[in-house]
Amino acid sequence: MLVLNDSSLLRPGSYIDGQWQTNNQHLAVRNPANGELLHTIANSNGIETEQAVVAARKAFTSWKKTTANERASIMRRWFNLIMEHQQDLAKILTAEQGKPLAEASGEIGYGAAFIEWFAEEAKRVYGDTIPAPSGDKRIVVIKQPVGVVAAITPWNFPNAMIARKAAAALAAGCTFIVRPATQTPLSALALAELAQRAGVPAGVFNVVVGDNARAMGQILTSHPDVDKFTFTGSTGVGKSLIAQCATTVKKVSMELGGNAPFIVFDDADVDAAVAGAIASKYRNAGQTCVCTNRIFVQQDIKDEFTEKFVSAVKQLQVGDGFDENVVIGPMISTQAVRDVQNLVQESISQGAVVALGGDSHSAGDCFYQPTIMTNVSNDMAIAANEIFGPVSPIIAFDNEDEVIGLANDTEYGLAAYFYARDIGRIWRVAEGLEYGMVGINEGIISNAAAPFGGMKQSGNGREGSKYGLDDYLEIKYLCMGGLDK
Ligand code: NAP
Repeated sequence: MLVLNDSSLLRPGSYIDGQWQTNNQHLAVRNPANGELLHTIANSNGIETEQAVVAARKAFTSWKKTTANERASIMRRWFNLIMEHQQDLAKILTAEQGKPLAEASGEIGYGAAFIEWFAEEAKRVYGDTIPAPSGDKRIVVIKQPVGVVAAITPWNFPNAMIARKAAAALAAGCTFIVRPATQTPLSALALAELAQRAGVPAGVFNVVVGDNARAMGQILTSHPDVDKFTFTGSTGVGKSLIAQCATTVKKVSMELGGNAPFIVFDDADVDAAVAGAIASKYRNAGQTCVCTNRIFVQQDIKDEFTEKFVSAVKQLQVGDGFDENVVIGPMISTQAVRDVQNLVQESISQGAVVALGGDSHSAGDCFYQPTIMTNVSNDMAIAANEIFGPVSPIIAFDNEDEVIGLANDTEYGLAAYFYARDIGRIWRVAEGLEYGMVGINEGIISNAAAPFGGMKQSGNGREGSKYGLDDYLEIKYLCMGGLDK
């Protein structure tokens, strides 16, 4: 049973126009570690989604007129409340998503950091004056909120993927509707509870929870009163949502899938590379978009790296996220376990060799063993697909040009990592990788100050940093004429 210090963080259903919704349709939320029923909430659908759009449109008329300072102080209160309730929010997150409690607590802090960051950035939405081509004119550029923003978010970061978008939207003066993933609605509703307590006005932040993703998504991507749509999830779903947004030419930003290369050159600090690979691969049981997906190791240090990596990964404890010392929790579903197992099996049939793990884990139906595979090539199933599970394929390479080519040989371009010491090599490789984010001698790269986002089919737009507000602002050019006497 989920025991919280503040049990009112568990809400009954969607939060629309400042009101909690209930109905007779129920949605059961379960713990992936053991199948336990955590909470039952009202299952919303199209009607509530429409209501949320209407509420956000109405609220926009007044929210857009608030000053940056007013928005910043409300957001600051929201941030403070989240941090005050960090432990309860972490428990809700671990219970519905599975990640270890310390990691969940880290996600709460990480998500809150975006609210704090954008509360400050709200005050720095500067315009421009531009030298005009004739003396009787002046050119001025102002920035205004885009309007009503709709978002769909995934289950792997039930708090942070919402906070990262909502923070920028609210700071810019937009109003916001999010439809969280079906498996993880409780974290989203707890965020709404704290938004309400912080004084976020009714209709400014709305959460619609329901299991009919397609129908709810159809409304959010085609409703004429939604001005911008933002999505975090798989590339396949993202593509269809972009197409749906085309009918009303919405502004769109997308945080999609990845296939991150992790390259270890022969001048690298191998121990540091092992630690970085573990951090970037096995966090969240391998279920992050920036997770290492392919480990490339230069031929002459391949054996040393593999030996050290296998022995370090063997130490990682798998189990229920609430158990102390556990660092790898369950995967999100039994289907996710089957998908990973199929990729592993297919790659074995293609010639890959299991160096560690390679099967489901005895901790329960949703668990998979931390796995390392060698003798892998870049075209095998385990390297060509986004694994989204705790499996590391190791691919040997000979030289720099070859590995840059292999790393870039994918439709994805989200995160990449490499370990090297030679300064010339560091610049050449950093510039040669076709990825939106590159970790150099570093396996954990995301924070509120840095622009998060991908190239190629990993998406468009950036979240966090000084660039993160751009996706929520319109640029308006004012041409002032007739200035001559
Ligand atoms: P997904 O299947 O694309 O689902 C993501 C969200 O989209 C969920 O809320 C899902 O709802 C909803 N959805 C699914 N089909 C839909 C449809 N036809 N219309 C409208 N909404 C729909 O992705 P996932 O497998 O849950 O999440 C993992 C993926 O997200 C990976 O590819 C990962 O790389 C990516 N990701 C990217 C980032 C980033 O910042 N780039 C961050 C995290 C994750 P239901 O829950 O009801 O299915």
